[in-house]
Amino acid sequence: MRVLVTGGAGFVGSHLCERLLAGGATVLCLDNFSTGARRNLAGLLGHPRFELLEHDVTAPVALAVDAVFHLASPASPVAYQQQPEATALANSLGSLHLLRLARDCGARYLFASTSEIYGDPTEHPQRETYWGNVNPLGPRACYDESKRFGEALTMVYLREYQLDARIVRIFNTYGPRSDPRDGRLVPNLVTQALRGEPLTVYGDGSQTRSLCYVDDLVRGLELAMFTEGTRGAVFNLGNPDEHTVLEYAELIRELVNPRVDIVFRPLPADDPTRRRPDITRAREQLGWQPQVPLREGLARTVEWFRALLAEPSA
Ligand code: NAD
Ligand code: UDP
Repeated sequence: MRVLVTGGAGFVGSHLCERLLAGGATVLCLDNFSTGARRNLAGLLGHPRFELLEHDVTAPVALAVDAVFHLASPASPVAYQQQPEATALANSLGSLHLLRLARDCGARYLFASTSEIYGDPTEHPQRETYWGNVNPLGPRACYDESKRFGEALTMVYLREYQLDARIVRIFNTYGPRSDPRDGRLVPNLVTQALRGEPLTVYGDGSQTRSLCYVDDLVRGLELAMFTEGTRGAVFNLGNPDEHTVLEYAELIRELVNPRVDIVFRPLPADDPTRRRPDITRAREQLGWQPQVPLREGLARTVEWFRALLAEPSA
Protein backbone atom coordinates (compact mmCIF):
# COMPACT_ATOMS: atom_id res chain seq x y z
CA MET A 1 0.00 0.00 0.00
CA ARG A 2 1.45 3.38 -1.08
CA VAL A 3 0.00 6.31 0.83
CA LEU A 4 0.37 10.02 0.09
CA VAL A 5 0.31 12.42 3.04
CA THR A 6 0.23 16.07 1.99
CA GLY A 7 1.44 18.33 4.77
CA GLY A 8 3.43 15.37 6.06
CA ALA A 9 6.21 17.56 7.45
CA GLY A 10 3.76 19.36 9.73
CA PHE A 11 2.69 18.67 13.28
CA VAL A 12 -0.17 16.22 12.60
CA GLY A 13 1.20 15.00 9.26
CA SER A 14 4.53 13.84 10.67
CA HIS A 15 2.79 11.77 13.36
CA LEU A 16 0.48 10.32 10.72
CA CYS A 17 3.44 9.36 8.49
CA GLU A 18 5.04 7.63 11.47
CA ARG A 19 1.89 5.70 12.27
CA LEU A 20 1.34 4.59 8.66
CA LEU A 21 4.95 3.42 8.36
CA ALA A 22 4.61 1.44 11.57
CA GLY A 23 1.53 -0.22 10.06
CA GLY A 24 3.55 -1.40 7.05
CA ALA A 25 2.61 1.18 4.39
CA THR A 26 4.98 2.92 2.00
CA VAL A 27 4.57 6.61 2.77
CA LEU A 28 5.07 9.48 0.38
CA CYS A 29 5.23 12.76 2.27
CA LEU A 30 4.52 15.85 0.17
CA ASP A 31 5.21 19.26 1.67
CA ASN A 32 6.35 22.75 0.71
CA PHE A 33 7.72 23.45 4.22
CA SER A 34 5.74 26.69 4.54
CA THR A 35 4.72 25.92 8.13
CA GLY A 36 6.24 22.45 8.51
CA ALA A 37 9.79 21.63 9.52
CA ARG A 38 12.47 19.19 8.41
CA ARG A 39 13.18 18.37 12.05
CA ASN A 40 9.68 16.82 12.24
CA LEU A 41 10.89 14.18 9.77
CA ALA A 42 14.19 13.49 11.51
CA GLY A 43 13.15 10.01 12.59
CA LEU A 44 11.68 9.12 9.18
CA LEU A 45 14.11 10.25 6.51
CA GLY A 46 16.26 7.12 6.56
CA HIS A 47 13.30 4.72 6.59
CA PRO A 48 13.28 2.42 3.52
CA ARG A 49 9.51 2.87 2.99
CA PHE A 50 9.53 6.67 3.41
CA GLU A 51 9.82 9.15 0.53
CA LEU A 52 9.82 12.94 0.67
CA LEU A 53 8.60 15.11 -2.18
CA GLU A 54 9.07 18.87 -1.83
CA HIS A 55 6.11 20.26 -3.72
CA ASP A 56 3.28 22.78 -3.41
CA VAL A 57 -0.24 21.30 -3.60
CA THR A 58 -1.44 24.29 -5.61
CA ALA A 59 0.46 22.80 -8.57
CA PRO A 60 -0.70 19.49 -10.09
CA VAL A 61 1.26 16.37 -9.35
CA ALA A 62 1.27 12.95 -11.08
CA LEU A 63 1.78 9.99 -8.76
CA ALA A 64 0.56 6.42 -8.36
CA VAL A 65 -0.81 5.90 -4.84
CA ASP A 66 -3.50 3.86 -3.11
CA ALA A 67 -4.64 6.52 -0.62
CA VAL A 68 -4.39 10.30 -0.29
CA PHE A 69 -4.53 12.14 3.06
CA HIS A 70 -4.84 15.85 2.20
CA LEU A 71 -3.53 17.74 5.24
CA ALA A 72 -1.47 20.46 3.55
CA SER A 73 -2.58 23.86 4.81
CA PRO A 74 -1.39 26.41 7.33
CA ALA A 75 -3.45 25.59 10.40
CA SER A 76 -2.96 28.03 13.26
CA PRO A 77 -4.83 31.35 13.29
CA VAL A 78 -1.48 33.19 13.31
CA ALA A 79 -0.09 31.16 10.39
CA TYR A 80 -3.15 31.35 8.17
CA GLN A 81 -3.64 35.05 8.76
CA GLN A 82 0.00 35.61 7.76
CA GLN A 83 -0.57 33.56 4.57
CA PRO A 84 -4.25 34.04 3.71
CA GLU A 85 -3.94 33.54 -0.05
CA ALA A 86 -1.75 30.43 0.30
CA THR A 87 -4.22 29.03 2.84
CA ALA A 88 -7.27 29.69 0.69
CA LEU A 89 -5.56 28.02 -2.27
CA ALA A 90 -4.14 24.99 -0.42
CA ASN A 91 -7.68 23.96 0.54
CA SER A 92 -9.38 24.87 -2.75
CA LEU A 93 -6.98 24.55 -5.69
CA GLY A 94 -4.86 22.09 -3.71
CA SER A 95 -7.95 20.00 -3.02
CA LEU A 96 -8.83 20.02 -6.71
CA HIS A 97 -5.42 18.66 -7.73
CA LEU A 98 -5.47 15.97 -5.06
CA LEU A 99 -9.04 14.92 -5.79
CA ARG A 100 -8.10 14.55 -9.46
CA LEU A 101 -5.04 12.57 -8.50
CA ALA A 102 -7.14 10.24 -6.31
CA ARG A 103 -9.71 9.86 -9.08
CA ASP A 104 -7.12 9.15 -11.75
CA CYS A 105 -5.35 6.47 -9.77
CA GLY A 106 -8.44 5.02 -8.08
CA ALA A 107 -7.16 5.94 -4.60
CA ARG A 108 -9.06 6.47 -1.38
CA TYR A 109 -9.16 10.13 -0.31
CA LEU A 110 -9.42 11.83 3.09
CA PHE A 111 -9.78 15.58 3.48
CA ALA A 112 -8.49 17.05 6.74
CA SER A 113 -11.16 19.61 7.51
CA THR A 114 -11.60 21.42 10.79
CA SER A 115 -13.96 22.32 13.60
CA GLU A 116 -13.53 25.88 12.28
CA ILE A 117 -16.11 25.07 9.63
CA TYR A 118 -18.65 25.35 12.48
CA GLY A 119 -17.45 28.96 13.09
CA ASP A 120 -18.77 30.43 16.34
CA PRO A 121 -21.26 27.59 16.86
CA THR A 122 -24.83 28.14 17.94
CA GLU A 123 -25.24 24.38 18.48
CA HIS A 124 -23.33 22.79 21.34
CA PRO A 125 -21.70 20.31 21.29
CA GLN A 126 -21.17 20.27 17.55
CA ARG A 127 -22.54 17.31 15.60
CA GLU A 128 -21.60 16.58 11.99
CA THR A 129 -25.13 17.52 10.93
CA TYR A 130 -24.64 21.14 12.07
CA TRP A 131 -24.02 23.57 9.16
CA GLY A 132 -22.10 26.15 11.15
CA ASN A 133 -22.05 29.88 11.83
CA VAL A 134 -19.10 31.29 9.89
CA ASN A 135 -18.20 34.90 9.11
CA PRO A 136 -17.33 34.67 5.39
CA LEU A 137 -15.61 38.07 5.40
CA GLY A 138 -13.56 38.06 8.60
CA PRO A 139 -9.85 37.41 9.11
CA ARG A 140 -10.42 33.68 9.68
CA ALA A 141 -12.43 33.25 6.46
CA CYS A 142 -9.38 32.35 4.32
CA TYR A 143 -9.18 29.20 6.41
CA ASP A 144 -12.78 28.46 7.42
CA GLU A 145 -14.30 29.11 4.02
CA SER A 146 -11.60 27.31 2.06
CA LYS A 147 -12.05 24.27 4.31
CA ARG A 148 -15.80 24.47 3.66
CA PHE A 149 -15.10 24.65 -0.07
CA GLY A 150 -12.66 21.74 0.24
CA GLU A 151 -15.48 19.72 1.81
CA ALA A 152 -17.91 20.73 -0.94
CA LEU A 153 -15.42 19.78 -3.67
CA THR A 154 -14.81 16.43 -1.98
CA MET A 155 -18.56 15.75 -2.19
CA VAL A 156 -18.59 16.83 -5.86
CA TYR A 157 -15.90 14.28 -6.68
CA LEU A 158 -17.62 11.64 -4.62
CA ARG A 159 -20.92 12.14 -6.48
CA GLU A 160 -19.61 12.90 -9.95
CA TYR A 161 -16.74 10.40 -10.11
CA GLN A 162 -17.76 7.87 -7.42
CA LEU A 163 -14.55 8.69 -5.53
CA ASP A 164 -13.95 6.70 -2.34
CA ALA A 165 -13.69 9.84 -0.19
CA ARG A 166 -14.37 10.91 3.39
CA ILE A 167 -14.07 14.12 5.43
CA VAL A 168 -12.65 14.47 8.92
CA ARG A 169 -13.30 17.61 10.98
CA ILE A 170 -10.36 17.87 13.31
CA PHE A 171 -10.84 19.68 16.63
CA ASN A 172 -8.00 21.37 18.52
CA THR A 173 -5.08 18.99 18.74
CA TYR A 174 -1.88 19.30 20.76
CA GLY A 175 1.30 17.36 21.34
CA PRO A 176 5.00 17.09 20.50
CA ARG A 177 6.12 18.77 17.25
CA SER A 178 3.54 21.53 17.38
CA ASP A 179 5.31 24.68 16.27
CA PRO A 180 6.34 26.89 19.21
CA ARG A 181 5.98 29.98 17.00
CA ASP A 182 2.56 29.32 15.51
CA GLY A 183 0.67 31.12 18.27
CA ARG A 184 -1.66 28.30 19.30
CA LEU A 185 -2.79 27.90 22.87
CA VAL A 186 -0.70 24.94 24.04
CA PRO A 187 2.61 25.84 22.31
CA ASN A 188 2.29 29.43 23.51
CA LEU A 189 1.48 28.69 27.13
CA VAL A 190 3.89 25.79 27.53
CA THR A 191 6.85 27.71 26.06
CA GLN A 192 5.94 30.77 28.13
CA ALA A 193 5.82 28.70 31.32
CA LEU A 194 9.13 26.98 30.51
CA ARG A 195 10.79 30.36 29.92
CA GLY A 196 9.36 31.77 33.16
CA GLU A 197 7.26 34.31 31.25
CA PRO A 198 3.64 35.27 32.03
CA LEU A 199 0.98 33.09 30.37
CA THR A 200 -1.10 35.08 27.87
CA VAL A 201 -4.84 34.44 28.08
CA TYR A 202 -6.86 36.17 25.37
CA GLY A 203 -10.10 37.83 26.47
CA ASP A 204 -11.25 36.80 29.95
CA GLY A 205 -10.38 33.15 29.24
CA SER A 206 -14.00 32.00 29.50
CA GLN A 207 -14.05 30.71 25.90
CA THR A 208 -13.83 26.92 25.76
CA ARG A 209 -11.85 24.42 23.73
CA SER A 210 -11.59 20.62 23.81
CA LEU A 211 -8.03 19.40 23.32
CA CYS A 212 -7.12 16.07 21.73
CA TYR A 213 -3.69 14.48 22.02
CA VAL A 214 -2.05 13.97 18.63
CA ASP A 215 -1.57 10.18 18.95
CA ASP A 216 -5.32 9.77 19.45
CA LEU A 217 -6.05 11.96 16.46
CA VAL A 218 -3.81 10.15 13.97
CA ARG A 219 -5.23 6.79 15.06
CA GLY A 220 -8.64 8.24 14.19
CA LEU A 221 -7.43 9.53 10.81
CA GLU A 222 -6.15 6.09 9.89
CA LEU A 223 -9.43 4.45 10.96
CA ALA A 224 -11.50 6.99 9.01
CA MET A 225 -9.49 6.27 5.86
CA PHE A 226 -9.33 2.49 6.00
CA THR A 227 -12.47 1.33 7.84
CA GLU A 228 -14.89 -0.27 5.37
CA GLY A 229 -18.15 1.61 4.86
CA THR A 230 -16.68 5.10 5.42
CA ARG A 231 -17.06 6.29 1.83
CA GLY A 232 -18.99 9.58 1.92
CA ALA A 233 -18.81 9.84 5.71
CA VAL A 234 -18.00 12.96 7.72
CA PHE A 235 -16.44 12.48 11.15
CA ASN A 236 -15.68 14.84 14.00
CA LEU A 237 -12.37 13.77 15.55
CA GLY A 238 -11.53 15.47 18.80
CA ASN A 239 -11.73 15.14 22.53
CA PRO A 240 -15.12 15.98 24.10
CA ASP A 241 -13.35 16.92 27.35
CA GLU A 242 -14.13 20.67 27.31
CA HIS A 243 -12.46 23.35 29.46
CA THR A 244 -12.14 27.10 29.47
CA VAL A 245 -8.93 28.64 28.19
CA LEU A 246 -8.30 29.98 31.70
CA GLU A 247 -8.54 26.43 33.10
CA TYR A 248 -5.95 25.25 30.55
CA ALA A 249 -3.68 28.13 31.56
CA GLU A 250 -4.04 27.26 35.25
CA LEU A 251 -3.30 23.58 34.60
CA ILE A 252 -0.21 24.36 32.49
CA ARG A 253 1.01 26.74 35.17
CA GLU A 254 0.56 24.03 37.81
CA LEU A 255 2.35 21.39 35.69
CA VAL A 256 5.25 23.52 34.45
CA ASN A 257 5.94 26.53 36.62
CA PRO A 258 3.64 27.64 39.48
CA ARG A 259 5.60 30.90 39.83
CA VAL A 260 4.49 32.50 36.54
CA ASP A 261 1.63 34.99 36.28
CA ILE A 262 -1.39 34.77 34.03
CA VAL A 263 -1.97 37.98 32.05
CA PHE A 264 -4.99 38.90 29.96
CA ARG A 265 -4.66 40.15 26.36
CA PRO A 266 -7.33 41.29 23.84
CA LEU A 267 -9.50 38.57 22.32
CA PRO A 268 -8.74 38.12 18.58
CA ALA A 269 -11.56 38.89 16.11
CA ASP A 270 -14.09 36.09 15.55
CA ASP A 271 -12.54 33.87 18.24
CA PRO A 272 -15.18 31.14 18.77
CA THR A 273 -16.71 31.23 22.24
CA ARG A 274 -17.03 27.47 22.67
CA ARG A 275 -16.09 24.29 20.96
CA ARG A 276 -16.70 20.65 21.79
CA PRO A 277 -17.15 17.75 19.39
CA ASP A 278 -19.97 15.26 19.55
CA ILE A 279 -18.04 12.11 18.61
CA THR A 280 -20.92 9.62 18.70
CA ARG A 281 -20.49 8.89 15.00
CA ALA A 282 -16.74 8.15 15.27
CA ARG A 283 -17.42 6.00 18.34
CA GLU A 284 -20.09 3.97 16.61
CA GLN A 285 -18.66 3.66 13.09
CA LEU A 286 -14.92 3.63 13.81
CA GLY A 287 -14.81 2.36 17.38
CA TRP A 288 -12.69 5.45 18.08
CA GLN A 289 -12.43 7.66 21.10
CA PRO A 290 -9.54 9.54 22.70
CA GLN A 291 -7.52 7.56 25.22
CA VAL A 292 -4.81 9.93 26.43
CA PRO A 293 -5.88 11.97 29.47
CA LEU A 294 -5.15 15.71 29.35
CA ARG A 295 -2.58 15.73 32.16
CA GLU A 296 -0.66 12.87 30.58
CA GLY A 297 -0.72 14.38 27.09
CA LEU A 298 0.35 17.74 28.45
CA ALA A 299 3.19 16.15 30.43
CA ARG A 300 4.53 14.49 27.25
CA THR A 301 4.16 17.76 25.35
CA VAL A 302 5.96 19.74 28.03
CA GLU A 303 8.91 17.33 27.93
CA TRP A 304 9.16 17.69 24.17
CA PHE A 305 9.13 21.51 24.40
CA ARG A 306 11.66 21.41 27.24
CA ALA A 307 14.09 19.48 25.02
CA LEU A 308 13.39 21.76 22.06
CA LEU A 309 14.07 24.92 24.05
CA ALA A 310 17.31 23.43 25.36
CA GLU A 311 18.66 23.15 21.78
CA PRO A 312 21.26 25.80 20.96
CA SER A 313 19.21 27.23 18.04
CA ALA A 314 16.04 27.71 20.14
P1 NAD B 1 1.03 22.34 10.32
O1 NAD B 1 1.14 23.76 9.87
O2 NAD B 1 1.98 21.85 11.34
O3 NAD B 1 1.10 21.37 9.08
C1 NAD B 1 0.66 21.73 7.79
C2 NAD B 1 1.69 21.25 6.79
O4 NAD B 1 1.23 21.56 5.47
C3 NAD B 1 3.05 21.94 6.96
O5 NAD B 1 4.09 20.98 6.96
C4 NAD B 1 3.14 22.86 5.77
O6 NAD B 1 4.47 23.11 5.35
C5 NAD B 1 2.33 22.10 4.73
N1 NAD B 1 1.75 22.95 3.68
C6 NAD B 1 1.03 24.08 3.83
N2 NAD B 1 0.67 24.58 2.63
C7 NAD B 1 1.15 23.71 1.70
C8 NAD B 1 1.11 23.66 0.28
N3 NAD B 1 0.48 24.62 -0.42
N4 NAD B 1 1.70 22.65 -0.35
C9 NAD B 1 2.36 21.66 0.35
N5 NAD B 1 2.45 21.66 1.70
C10 NAD B 1 1.85 22.67 2.37
O7 NAD B 1 -0.48 22.15 10.81
P2 NAD B 1 -1.17 20.90 11.52
O8 NAD B 1 -1.64 21.35 12.84
O9 NAD B 1 -0.32 19.72 11.41
O10 NAD B 1 -2.47 20.72 10.59
C11 NAD B 1 -2.53 19.70 9.60
C12 NAD B 1 -3.92 19.70 8.99
O11 NAD B 1 -4.88 19.41 10.00
C13 NAD B 1 -4.31 21.02 8.34
O12 NAD B 1 -5.03 20.77 7.16
C14 NAD B 1 -5.21 21.64 9.37
O13 NAD B 1 -6.16 22.50 8.79
C15 NAD B 1 -5.87 20.44 10.01
N6 NAD B 1 -6.30 20.73 11.38
C16 NAD B 1 -5.41 20.79 12.41
C17 NAD B 1 -5.85 21.10 13.68
C18 NAD B 1 -4.93 21.15 14.87
O14 NAD B 1 -5.39 21.44 15.98
N7 NAD B 1 -3.65 20.88 14.72
C19 NAD B 1 -7.21 21.38 13.90
C20 NAD B 1 -8.07 21.35 12.82
C21 NAD B 1 -7.62 21.01 11.57
N1 UDP C 1 -5.38 31.63 23.21
C1 UDP C 1 -4.99 32.29 24.36
N2 UDP C 1 -3.67 32.58 24.53
C2 UDP C 1 -2.72 32.26 23.61
C3 UDP C 1 -3.13 31.58 22.43
C4 UDP C 1 -4.47 31.27 22.26
O1 UDP C 1 -5.82 32.61 25.23
O2 UDP C 1 -1.54 32.57 23.84
C5 UDP C 1 -6.81 31.30 23.04
C6 UDP C 1 -7.44 31.75 21.72
O3 UDP C 1 -7.92 33.07 21.83
C7 UDP C 1 -8.56 30.74 21.56
C8 UDP C 1 -7.99 29.45 22.20
O4 UDP C 1 -6.91 29.89 23.03
O5 UDP C 1 -9.69 31.13 22.29
C9 UDP C 1 -7.47 28.46 21.17
O6 UDP C 1 -6.63 29.15 20.28
P1 UDP C 1 -5.78 28.44 19.16
O7 UDP C 1 -5.06 29.51 18.40
O8 UDP C 1 -4.97 27.35 19.75
O9 UDP C 1 -6.85 27.72 18.20
P2 UDP C 1 -8.32 28.10 17.67
O10 UDP C 1 -9.21 27.16 18.38
O11 UDP C 1 -8.62 29.52 17.99
O12 UDP C 1 -8.23 27.84 16.21
